[in-house]
Amino acid sequence: MITTRCGDVTLPVGKILCVGRNYAAHAAEMNAPPPGEPMLFLKPSTALLPGGGEVSLPTWSEEVHHEVEMVVRIGRGGASLSEAEAAVAVDAVAVGLDLTARDVQARAKQAGHPWSVAKGFDGSAPISELHPVSDLAVLGDLELALDVNGVSRQRGRTSAMSWPVASLVRFASTRMRLEPGDLLFTGTPEGVGALADGDRLEARLGDELGVSVLCRHGG
Ligand code: ZN
Repeated sequence: MITTRCGDVTLPVGKILCVGRNYAAHAAEMNAPPPGEPMLFLKPSTALLPGGGEVSLPTWSEEVHHEVEMVVRIGRGGASLSEAEAAVAVDAVAVGLDLTARDVQARAKQAGHPWSVAKGFDGSAPISELHPVSDLAVLGDLELALDVNGVSRQRGRTSAMSWPVASLVRFASTRMRLEPGDLLFTGTPEGVGALADGDRLEARLGDELGVSVLCRHGG
């Protein structure tokens, strides 16, 4: 079973929910309009790489992109949560990377096919350690940053999210039941780009959370 730990609380990762185009500037760089409601997709729990480390870039993609994102963990689940319930549903926060086989995703989009394999390969969801969250307000304006080989690639603030965490959690719970341990990747700011063999990634959220990833050619 794949789990995450925050302090004394270890929970199973049932599902990894992600939201697409939650920052207008990223939607613009993808030449796609910001969606009218949160656009959700899933990664399998096997994509998770807790604490970062080495990622094998898939051999069947020529273009794996980085997307740095704030990640929250559901502590109290449920279906169709009220606003008040959504406000206390999250128990922890991390910084993560939504690694994406962009060429494979683009071909899937064009063919009208699901893009699960482009987003779901092993190691495509590295996350940092988790810090406890008791008040969602602390997540409202944090700096999100990604350096690749020491060079800044992505900088953003969570205040630029089209839907803040409570809205995302509430909306997601109206579409599928949330369970304790589920993770939610909350979208990436602008600056996504391709990765190569040997690239070292340093992702940060606020002053305290960080994760490092080393990319290797898959074999
Ligand atoms: Zn993403």
